[in-house]
Amino acid sequence: MRCSKRNCNNPAIIHQRYSGLHFCEAHFVDDVERKVKKEMRKQLMVEKGDRIAVALSGGKDSSALIYMFKKIFHNRIDLDFFAIAVDEGINGYRSITLRNAEKVAKELGMVLHQFSFEQEFGFMLDEIVAKKFEQAPCTFCGVLRRKLIDRKAKELGATKVATAHNLDDEVQTILINYIRGDIERLGRLYGRREEFVPRIKPLRGVPEKEIALYALIADLPIITADCPYATRSFRFTVKKMLNEFERKHPGTKYSVMRGYERLSEFLPRAQPERKLLRCERCGDASASNICKACEIIENMKY
Ligand code: SF4
Ligand code: ZN
Repeated sequence: MRCSKRNCNNPAIIHQRYSGLHFCEAHFVDDVERKVKKEMRKQLMVEKGDRIAVALSGGKDSSALIYMFKKIFHNRIDLDFFAIAVDEGINGYRSITLRNAEKVAKELGMVLHQFSFEQEFGFMLDEIVAKKFEQAPCTFCGVLRRKLIDRKAKELGATKVATAHNLDDEVQTILINYIRGDIERLGRLYGRREEFVPRIKPLRGVPEKEIALYALIADLPIITADCPYATRSFRFTVKKMLNEFERKHPGTKYSVMRGYERLSEFLPRAQPERKLLRCERCGDASASNICKACEIIENMKY
């Protein structure tokens, strides 16, 4: 197969079933970067003088994000980027990805700050899991990681936090909220949270598989390690289901995303009657008297 771009006769390396197009290597790279730039423009993600903290896990998505930031903004001297990596304390998994994060940051010349659950909260994720709480490990992991990144980004003077969520991640989140009937959270998905460092997700218009291919072409150090707890989450079930839909009906992921974007205009964004409170323990903005992170810390004492 040949590339579908006009006047290009190079062999295609990918067939996008959802668009019907074939791309050669160069035009595939262009297509991914075009989607990322479009998303950033649409959401005004990067503004003059920004100091952006990139959440780097050491996996393909966040490595590709750093690479793209460096490539797209190489002549913007008003911008500043640095990376934050979090060691949640997952034996046999995180140390491997963190080593890769160090490698990526070094290769791409980005300052990396590392933090851990153990230093910050006094326990590892493995210890939480050992307590056999009802919720899946990802629930605790997500709350604490978000807290840690937010806190450190603020301390390090970041104006934005960039995460590497891709199209698959975003569509999974949308569906999870639909399935749970969590309209409030659905409405908050793209809203700016005044009390926190604003989050940006430049990769959310690109399918996961394409980011993997992009990272491969960019010759980024890639490791294939899966978190041992991933399969226990509800997200994992939704992910499998969505991939099955996409296989049988190409374009499903994009249509869920587009449908959500249209619907989101009608969703309640801010709820003035439910003003954000301050957590009694840590002082951060919270929906209740004690924030979710402090609740976990409290429960770990017993
Ligand atoms: Fe944490 Fe779940 Fe991700 Fe593992 S899969 S790192 S437990 S959020
Ligand atoms: Zn708190």
